[in-house]
Formats: sequence, C-alpha cells, structure tokens
Amino acid sequence: MRTIIAGNWKMHKDRTEAENLLDAIAASGPFDGVEVLVAPPFPFLDLAVRHVGGKGVRVAAQNCHEAGQGAFTGEVGVPMLRSLGVGACIVGHSERRQYFGETDVMVGRKVAALLKDELQPIYCCGEQRAEREGGTHFDVVATQLHTALSGLGPKEIARLVVAYEPVWAIGTGLNATPEQAQEMHAFIRAELRKLAGDAADAIPILYGGSCKPDNAAGLFAGADVNGGLIGGASLVADQFIALVRIARDAKRTA
Ligand code: PEP
Repeated sequence: MRTIIAGNWKMHKDRTEAENLLDAIAASGPFDGVEVLVAPPFPFLDLAVRHVGGKGVRVAAQNCHEAGQGAFTGEVGVPMLRSLGVGACIVGHSERRQYFGETDVMVGRKVAALLKDELQPIYCCGEQRAEREGGTHFDVVATQLHTALSGLGPKEIARLVVAYEPVWAIGTGLNATPEQAQEMHAFIRAELRKLAGDAADAIPILYGGSCKPDNAAGLFAGADVNGGLIGGASLVADQFIALVRIARDAKRTA
C-alpha cells in the first residue's frame, strides 16, 4: 500500500516564503517510499513544479472547476493545471463546502473532470462536530462518498486518494484519536469496496485534522491510515518533513 503525506497550504505564503518552503522540502528527500505532495495556492503552482519537479515531490492544486474552459471568471480548469505539470488536486475540502457552497454533487463533477484529464483527485470527506456527537458520522460520510462517487466506475474510483477530515479537527488543535481514525478509515474502505470492489483495498486513505509531529505516530499506525493530509503543520518545513519521516517509520514497523 502506498503511503502519502500531502501538504495543503490553503491561502498562505507569499512568493519568497513559498520558494523557501519548497526548497526545504525538496532538499529533505529522498523520502524512502513515502509519496510527498504539496498543494500551494494557484499563483505558486508553476513555481512549485519548477522548484520540486523531479525531486520526488508532486504538486497538487487545492481546487478546480468542473469545466475544461469557458466564461467562468476567477475559476481554474483542469487542463490548465495539467499544462503546468500539476499532478493532483484536492476536492471537497470542508472549507470549500462551508464557505463556497460546494455540494457532494458538485464535488463529484470535479472528480470526474480530474480523472478525464488524468489528474489524481484527493477527495475529502468528514463529519461536523454535531454529527459526531449525534452519532450520525458514519451515515454522513457514507452519503458524501456515495453521492459524489456513484457516477464513476470501479476503475475510475481506483485512481482516487481519499482523505478523511473530521471537520471538528481541522485547524482546531483537536484531533481524532488513533482509534476513531482507524475505525472511520476502515468504514470508508468498506464503503469504497461497495463502489469499486477489491480495487478499494489499494486506495490510499489519508487522515487530516490537526495532525502534528507529536500525535502523528499513533494516527499513522492504523492499518487503514495510509498517511496524512496536513494543513497547519505543512506550512513549517521542519514539521512537514518530520511528518514524512514519522509516516515512513510507522509503515516500516507495521
Ligand atoms: C486541512 O485543512 O486539510 C487540515 C488537515 O488542516 P489542519 O492540519 O490545520 O487541521
């Protein structure tokens, strides 16, 4: 099974800061079997490909439009990303759902657009705090997965990376316990099996939500936790690089 550490920079960094962070990450390789991705803001994607391309780090976007091109002011199409050498794209992040009104149906269309142009979707799902407290977290995540992905065939779903991001843990300093993470990851894999059959066993499922060097070893030890989608800690080179090493060690000893 692949192990992935992906950094979601969100709307952070200026050009010089971005270059410094990219150079520090690239210089910390080789990554010994861990796939490392960075997802900087759109203006820095070209620069990111130039700085880390060929150094074992892949570049991802944080969002895309479902249409290839057209009169959609302010949007970015998948063919544009592809033409820059961007290899993957985060879709369905809870901040996109919460602040920009993205629904599972919209997210599903973005996943399809990415697959059509051979970019890897990093599909995010996860429940709100009230949903976990109310005990509906499994239903919520199942609905997200099935609504967004049921239009795809098993071979297409097999090309995804899925990120479980409990919304109550994102940027809050609260994280799921290793048991909560593994339990939900196993559930997600079982749901993916309903959609994609045995191919689901090879789909990386990343944990996201206040994952830091001091809590990552326990989280990454879960059998169905195949790495992390990292927000805040991906902005600090030492922390991000430490997370790559922790993921490598967790999977070596598994
Ligand atoms: C994220 O937004 O994808 C995320 C996991 O953020 P943080 O690590 O800061 O909680």
